[in-house]
Amino acid sequence: MNKLHRLLMPALGIATTVIATLPGQALAWGAQGHRLVARIAEIRLEPQARVEIDRLLASEPGATLSNIAPWADQLRANDPDLGKKSAGWHYVNMAEEDCIFSPPTHCRNDDCVVGALKQQSALLANRQLNDRERLQALKFVVHLVGDLHQPLHAGYGHDRGGNTYQLQFNGRGTNLHSVWDSGMFYTLQLNDDQFLQRLLALPAPAARRAPDLQRDPALWAEQTCRIATRKGLYPSGHKIDERYTAVWEPVAEAQLRLGGEQLAALLNQLLDTP
Ligand SMILES: [Zn+2]
Repeated sequence: MNKLHRLLMPALGIATTVIATLPGQALAWGAQGHRLVARIAEIRLEPQARVEIDRLLASEPGATLSNIAPWADQLRANDPDLGKKSAGWHYVNMAEEDCIFSPPTHCRNDDCVVGALKQQSALLANRQLNDRERLQALKFVVHLVGDLHQPLHAGYGHDRGGNTYQLQFNGRGTNLHSVWDSGMFYTLQLNDDQFLQRLLALPAPAARRAPDLQRDPALWAEQTCRIATRKGLYPSGHKIDERYTAVWEPVAEAQLRLGGEQLAALLNQLLDTP
């Protein structure tokens, strides 16, 4: 349980036993969403960045940009100390403040996805550091750029990014955050290769046409947040029906595509000199 959860518990008046059974907010796009963001970025890497990324990945048997992408969501099970330290790095709740990012309010000590991404980007770009540290930073960067494009990772704090917004989907009880992480994608029943082709067939995001405008994670977070506050994203009647997925699943796909393009632009910038 992270600091935010502890702070919110009394305010929400929910018993500890109930909140302890709720899924944590930190789990962003399901593993498939994270892998796809990385797959898109892989295609867009420039030669300098590709060489350096391949060199860092080579130190870990079998590592690829896409299979390291979900790593940060598995830390709480595999590396509890780092998992605890990084628990707040996956999101920034700022919809209550009209999606205007303010570090003192939303990201004290860089303990949010925007601050963590800036810090990890600096570590990855620093060639004075050893490869182990830089590979770990690469894993965080790939993951956090994905998280930054999931609308409910830059949404409201009062419901922990939709985690406490319970609803019905496909005849089962779940929550809005989970529907956006993976529930809507799961209904497509596509493997990664099929899903990648579908995403690449989408129109190029505006950011790709004007990449210089798009290097600021705070700006990405604000854009993502504005999706979370769009009318209708919280379904009426706490029920996801076909009309909902017809409107919102394409928005989620466009965010995966945009995340991949932004990730490539960031990696190309961080690793552009030998
Ligand atoms: Zn995450």
